[in-house]
Amino acid sequence: MPNCNLVNLLQRTISGCFVLLIMASPVNAGQDCRVDTSRVNANGFSPQQQALWQDLVHLSSAAMQGRKSGTEGAQLAREYIARRYQESGLVPLPQKQGQDNSEETASWFHTFTPPGLFTRTEGANVIGQIKGQHKPDKFLVLSAHYDHLGKQGRKIHFGANDNASGVAALIYIAQQLSQTGSHHSILFLATDYEEAGLYGAAAFVQQGIPEHADILMNINMDMLAQPGRNWTLYVAGTRWFPEIKPAVERVLGNAPICAETGMDRVSRSYDRSYRIDWRKASDHWEFAQQDIAWLYLGVKDFKYYHTIYDTPDKLSRPFYTGVVETAWQLVVAVDSHFSHPK
Ligand SMILES: [Zn+2]
Repeated sequence: MPNCNLVNLLQRTISGCFVLLIMASPVNAGQDCRVDTSRVNANGFSPQQQALWQDLVHLSSAAMQGRKSGTEGAQLAREYIARRYQESGLVPLPQKQGQDNSEETASWFHTFTPPGLFTRTEGANVIGQIKGQHKPDKFLVLSAHYDHLGKQGRKIHFGANDNASGVAALIYIAQQLSQTGSHHSILFLATDYEEAGLYGAAAFVQQGIPEHADILMNINMDMLAQPGRNWTLYVAGTRWFPEIKPAVERVLGNAPICAETGMDRVSRSYDRSYRIDWRKASDHWEFAQQDIAWLYLGVKDFKYYHTIYDTPDKLSRPFYTGVVETAWQLVVAVDSHFSHPK
């Protein structure tokens, strides 16, 4: 191995030194993240990766009418998600019903009444689970909101990045993990009424499904597919849960796309016109307020955020595929971390 100290480098050109320095530098430093995405689909997309994209496209199609909570579009979306959960090998949760909560029936839908001065239509989260092989009474909650903004006049807010991308990722990871199994139980939580105020996640957390002490961590995914300027996936939360950081960084270091920990607090928007508190930016905030550990996966905000132009053609399919592979590996790593903390 050549000696790569700075003096040596200034004196001589040793090609091996440059290679080593590049490998040792942080994943995103000086690297063209856009070019790197070619690594994701060098051999073409697998059948599961094809299905991932089809789920994203279907959820952000005109048929879903922008998935606004309380509308027929949102209902179509949650029926689609429940069907895909079933096809992916998930099982529904038993839910208590009847006047004294004595009856139990299994359902994909967790219904709730959102708060507000005006009567809002009932909301429904879609929940499926994989039973843990070693510790089935402890849970990881993997979440993504499926609702979006609906229509503006006759124009549809398609919400491809926000957040058909997160929901399709939920389904993909469900498929993978139902084949391999997991140490702990994993709940796949597609939330409703996120855009109006994180109400679906709040109902889930407040109703104790499951008890807070039994939730090891929430991993929330919101906006995974629009690469923005820097083509980087951010994983927020490790600042608050440093014990998970080595496991997260091992996964990000091997990711097929550029990925970093960060966005843990307030930062400026993509055009520097406003500030975003990433801790409160999506459903993980409801878990955070109950002292439940969380990670948030997302790209930075982007030009088409909350506009009618958030459509699949604005996304990068190779980048998105790499992000979802990374998200899957992250769930696997977190599941093992809580079995054998290092
Ligand atoms: Zn969102």
